[in-house]
Order: sequence, then structure tokens, then C-alpha cells
Amino acid sequence: MTSGAPVLVAGAGIGGLTAAICLMRADIPARVFEQAAVLGEIGAGIQVSANAGRVYRDIGLMDAIEAAGALPETYRFRMFDDGAVLQEIPLGEAYRARHGVPYVTIHRADLHSILVDAVHRLAVDAVRLGARVDDFTQDGAGIVLRLAGGETICGVALVGADGVKSTVRRLLIGDPPARYTGDAVWRAIVPAEALPPAYRDNAVDIWVGPGRHAVTYPLRGGRFVNFVGCVEHPGFEDESWTTAHPWEEMRDDFAGWHPRIGAIIEAADRGQCYRWALRIREPADNWSDGRVTLLGDAAHATLPYMAQGAAMAVEDAAVLARCLCAGDPVVDAIGRYQRNRIPRTTRIVNESTANRALFHLPDRQALRDAFARRDMNAERTAWLFSYDALTVPLD
Ligand SMILES: Cc1cc2nc3c(=O)[nH]c(=O)nc-3n(C[C@H](O)[C@H](O)[C@H](O)COP(=O)(O)OP(=O)(O)OC[C@H]3O[C@@H](n4cnc5c(N)ncnc54)[C@H](O)[C@@H]3O)c2cc1C
Repeated sequence: MTSGAPVLVAGAGIGGLTAAICLMRADIPARVFEQAAVLGEIGAGIQVSANAGRVYRDIGLMDAIEAAGALPETYRFRMFDDGAVLQEIPLGEAYRARHGVPYVTIHRADLHSILVDAVHRLAVDAVRLGARVDDFTQDGAGIVLRLAGGETICGVALVGADGVKSTVRRLLIGDPPARYTGDAVWRAIVPAEALPPAYRDNAVDIWVGPGRHAVTYPLRGGRFVNFVGCVEHPGFEDESWTTAHPWEEMRDDFAGWHPRIGAIIEAADRGQCYRWALRIREPADNWSDGRVTLLGDAAHATLPYMAQGAAMAVEDAAVLARCLCAGDPVVDAIGRYQRNRIPRTTRIVNESTANRALFHLPDRQALRDAFARRDMNAERTAWLFSYDALTVPLD
């Protein structure tokens, strides 16, 4: 890519911001257009595994992420009621020694602001707020982006990092909106000091049980505990991330679960219990056209049952920057990016969907048997955590 015109990025989520940083660090000018008037992220946690951490380290952000987050010692799959450990993945120093970067859990708002600061350090005016991408046209010379209100902006390429309800995807592919999976998710963050000391484990715990599962892990150096409760709710379609629901419904959804889950729910702020619908798409075999491509949830919306949605977006960003700075024509670079990303992201989306069936098996014996047949540490080490977006050979 030789043109001095910028790559235009729709969306300033984790994917769009990381893409802008990777591009600008490769001396490719980038501009991000965000529909929201104010930058921010919802109050919830996010896990940063090594495959994302390597990219953050490369762009100089891993120390800040580590300092703002927590460093759990272990990742456990546990029985919903008695807490028996069904499988375990060592984290902490063993994980860092094996993968070169730690496994971090971090508040989304903290991660987002680290990314925003990094973009601003590279180019103070790179992110434009209150700028909803509405349409685009392209020809051999470049892209013309149209914002709501009619303003147009010229660029060399367009990256739709505009999330699960992507406008760029609708214009590009025209497929139906992402469908409701049948699972709704509770989220809450509680102060660790509100829990008995025995319940402040420095662990990522996946509590599996009939028709639902819960995820708990520390945030902000262990001062807070993140709770995510994924429940099969066939009729539930609401998708707002910011609508509070009655606390009692969350309590009832996890009645009879391990006392640690009960203690976390008991400690939750009763006016701040959020529940939203999980949406996915079947993996696509094409998400680009000419100078336009997709990244992150816009390209490959997934169930969060491997905690890999944002990690995939971060990998996408690194591979896209590698392809665009290799000197090929833009259209070829975008084709190469897509070719190299689809097999991996399809695998992660499909395995995340398969985890729904595994985590929600109907009884204790079925759960015990299914987990006894797996070796989650070996599986995830072999292909998931070991992927290095910076050095993986590109065809
Ligand atoms: C319960 C849950 C837990 C999760 N846990 C993890 C985890 O532990 N680890 C992990 O890696 N992933 C996790 N994920 C997935 C992760 O949250 C997403 O995959 C990730 O945030 C997607 O980032 P994105 O940048 O692609 O999209 P988004 O974060 O959705 O960002 C899209 C941005 O585009 C903007 N936008 C939309 N339309 C337009 C437009 N037309 N013009 C301009 N701007 C626009 C939006 O306002 C938004 O800012 C989890 C998801 C859920 C639901």
C-alpha cells in the first residue's frame, strides 16, 4: 500500500481502536469514526488471553493492561452446586512462562481508555465522535465514506469495526441481522470486600450447570469480582446492554448454585443488574469487497463461551496491518487478510457454540463424564493461546 490517504475505520470499540493503533504504528494513516458522542465501555470485565496479549505487548500496552487488571492464578471449570473442579488451566507465572505474556482480567472501561489514550498519543485527532457511518462507495482510486448528515470522507480502504449490528456489513454482505441464540446474560460487578475472604479466589471460574453457566473472576487487582451469568431464555429478545432488570430474577436464575455464586448475587447492587441477549451469525466465507473489509464482531459475531470475541478482533487488527503494510495493492492486501483470518475465526466461533452444549449439560453425571473426556489446558494451549498474529505465516 503506497497511497498517503488514510484507512477509514468505522467504530471505536476494542477492535477499531486496536486496528487504528496497529495501522498507525506501521506508518499507515488511520481515522476512526464513532457514532457515539462520548467514548466509553460498559461496566463489565473482559479476559485477555495470550493470543491478544502478544499484540498488546507489541503495541506497547501490555504493561498498562497488566497494571490496571488482575492476574488470576488459575482457570477452572467447576460443578455448579458443590464447586468440584472438573478441569483446570494453570495461569499465573506458569502461563506467563509458557506464553511470554500473562493472562489478565480487566474492567472493559479500563482497557478501552488505555486504547483511546494510545490512539491519541499517535494522532490526537484520529478518532471522530458523533460520526455515524451511513454509506460508502468505492472505485479503483479509493473509498468515499458518507456520514449521517451527508458529509463525505475519502480514504484508501474502509474497515467496518462497527460491532454485531454493523452497518458496513449490511451494506457489504446484506445478510440478515445476527440472530438471538436463546441465551441471555446477567452481569454484575461487586466489591471483593463484600464477600467472605474464602470466596475471593484469585481465579477465573466457569461454573457449569443444567441450562446455564456462570463466570467469575477478579478485577482491578482483586478489589472487585466480575460476575457473568449465562442462562437459556428461549423467549427473551431484548438487547440493550444498559437496561437494569429486577435483581430477584438473577437470584432465582441461580437458586441452588454454589454459595459463592449466591454470595456474589447477594452483594450485587440491586439497581444495577443488567441482562442482555446474546446474538451470533453463522461464520461467513466472505466479509470483504474490494477496498472494504470487516473486523471483530462485525466480521465474526460469536457466543462469548471461549472469551475470545475481543481477542479475535485484536488478532484481526494485527494481521490486517501486516497485510496492508506489505507493499501489495490494497485490494490484494484485504483479500490476503480475509483468507488468513477466516479459518481461525470460524473455528473459534464454532467451538464457542459447541461450548454452549457442553457447559449446559442437563445433570451432574453428564457434566462429569463430558469434562473427564477433555483436556482443556492441552487443547487451548495447542492452538488458541499459542497463536501469534505478529509472526504466523500468511499465505
Ligand atoms: C458476556 C460477554 C463476555 C465477553 N467476554 C469476553 C472476554 O472475556 N474476552 C474477549 O476477548 N471477548 C469477550 N467478549 C466479546 C467482546 O466483548 C466483543 O467481541 C468485542 O467487544 C467486540 O469488539 P468490536 O470492536 O468488534 O465491537 P464493539 O465493541 O461492538 O464496537 C463497535 C463500535 O462501533 C460503533 N458503531 C456501530 N455502528 C456504527 C456506525 N454505523 N458508525 C460508527 N460507529 C458505529 C459502536 O458504537 C461501537 O463503539 C464478551 C462478550 C460478552 C457478550
